[in-house]
Amino acid sequence: MNPSRHLLAILVLVTCAPLAAQSTGYDGPAFTRTEVAPGVHTFVFDNPLGDAAGVDGTAVVIINDTDVVVVDAQWSPATARRVIAEIRRLTPNPVRYVVNTHWHGDHWFGNQAYREAFPGVEFVAHASTRLDMESQELAGFEAFRSQGLPATIADLEKRYAAAVRRDGQPYTAADSAMVRRQVAAMKWAVPVMAEVTPVLPTLTVTDSLVLRRGERTIAIRYLGRGNTRGDLTVWLPRERVLVMGDLLVNPAPYSFGSYLGEWHRTLGALRALPALVVVPGHGALQRDWEYLDLVRELIASTLEQAKAAVARGLDLEATRKAVDLTGFRERFTRGDVMTGRAFDAFFAAPAVERAWLEARGDLDKATPG
Ligand SMILES: [Zn+2]
Repeated sequence: MNPSRHLLAILVLVTCAPLAAQSTGYDGPAFTRTEVAPGVHTFVFDNPLGDAAGVDGTAVVIINDTDVVVVDAQWSPATARRVIAEIRRLTPNPVRYVVNTHWHGDHWFGNQAYREAFPGVEFVAHASTRLDMESQELAGFEAFRSQGLPATIADLEKRYAAAVRRDGQPYTAADSAMVRRQVAAMKWAVPVMAEVTPVLPTLTVTDSLVLRRGERTIAIRYLGRGNTRGDLTVWLPRERVLVMGDLLVNPAPYSFGSYLGEWHRTLGALRALPALVVVPGHGALQRDWEYLDLVRELIASTLEQAKAAVARGLDLEATRKAVDLTGFRERFTRGDVMTGRAFDAFFAAPAVERAWLEARGDLDKATPG
C-alpha cells in the first residue's frame, strides 16, 4: 500500500471515533509524558483518540550526563517541536542522536525540527530504512500532501453538507461532531505537511550501535525483519527499558509490508530480554509480555492459516475468506468499535496478503516493507 495513503487512512480512522468533542478547533495531538526510568521519558501521542493507534510514533527521550538521545521524531516538525520544547524544559543538554526506528513517516518527518534546534544532531537508522524512506515514503509524499489530503477534506465536507453517512443513514448529532473533528484535524495537517522537508538518516546501522554514556548503555540493535525490513530496537540494559518501534503497536498491530515469519522470531528474541518497561511504537506502555505474546500468537496463526490455504491451492481472495481471525479480533478489541476497525484495516487485511505471499515464497518479489 502506498505509505502516504496508509498515513491518511490512519488519520481518517483515528478521527472517526464517536467523540463527544464540542470544539471544532484542533491544534495537533496531545501527548502524555512518562518518566519510565530516571532520565528516560516516553511521549505517547493522542491522535486525537486515546484508544486508537495514531499518526505520531511514540518518542523516547533519554537524557544523559552531557547529551540527549531521542528515539523517533513523529509525523511532523510541528509535533516534534512540542517534544523539543519539553526536552529544553527538562535539560540544557543538546540532542546528539535521533534514532528513526523504521521508514514510515510518522517516525521521521519531524527530523527537520531536531536539525533546526540542534545542528550537530545525527539521525540513525537501518541501512534498508534509509533506502525505503526514499523509494517508498517519499515516492508518494508530494501527491499525498498536495492532492490526497485536500481531496479527502473536500470529500468529507461534501458529506458533511449532505449530512448522510456512507451507509445511507442520516447523520446523528454524534456523526456531525465526528466529521467536524475529522475536517478540523485534516485542515490542521495541510500546512503542517506542506512544511515538511525530509531529513534522511546520516548514520546507518546494519547490526548494532552501542552508545555508552557514563553509567548508561544504549544498545541500538537490528534483530531481523519484522514490521519492516529495517526495524531498529533500543535496549537500555541497566534501566531495563525496551523500545520496540512498530514491531509492537497497541491496541492493534500494523502489518503493512511486514514479514510475518521473521516478525514472530524477532519478537521472540526480544521477549528473552529482562525488560521492565516495553515501549510500543504507538499506544499504551507495557509492563509485561502479555500483549506481545498475544501479537505473536496472532502472527503465527495468520501465517499458519495462510500456509494451509496455499497448500490447498487457494488464490489471495479465497485465502482472505479462509483465514479466520475472529477469535483474535475479540481478544484485541474486547468489543471496542474503533479498535475493531484498526484490527481489520491495519492488521488483518494487509497481514493476510503478506502471509499468502510468504507462504508462496513470493515475499521478496513484492515491495519491501
Ligand atoms: Zn508508526
